[in-house]
Amino acid sequence: MEAELVPVREGLFAAPDNAPPYLIGGRCTVCGAVRFPWRTRCVACFSSGTVERLPLSRRGKLYTFTVVRVPPVGYETPYAFGYVDLPEGLRVFALLGGDLEALQIGQTVELELAPYKRDRLGRRVLGYRFVPVPTGARRA
Ligand SMILES: [Zn+2]
Repeated sequence: MEAELVPVREGLFAAPDNAPPYLIGGRCTVCGAVRFPWRTRCVACFSSGTVERLPLSRRGKLYTFTVVRVPPVGYETPYAFGYVDLPEGLRVFALLGGDLEALQIGQTVELELAPYKRDRLGRRVLGYRFVPVPTGARRA
């Protein structure tokens, strides 16, 4: 039997049945600030209850990254994480996937959901990560 799959945290991302997954950001209706993850209070102007949920773009540019080769407990190496700049004007911290040796600052990366560890109950934990978009790919 396949182990149960649970999101790393509720409300971080959505995985519609017939559409690609996306991160759930928030846009403040008072000051316009866009942030991830969504929160009830705007961290730019401190208004409360003014942040509406905003599906974020699935593609962005890799701002910077590092490859981890010495594992913390419960993880397998190598893995990589970094910051991705999204068109909405925010920088998102994320795990990175694909060919880690081929990662390059400035390259276009795309969101995907993938299990990345198991929790204490043995369930597979589903997280988000960005993977390089193959050169020449024009898929939206
Ligand atoms: Zn605000």
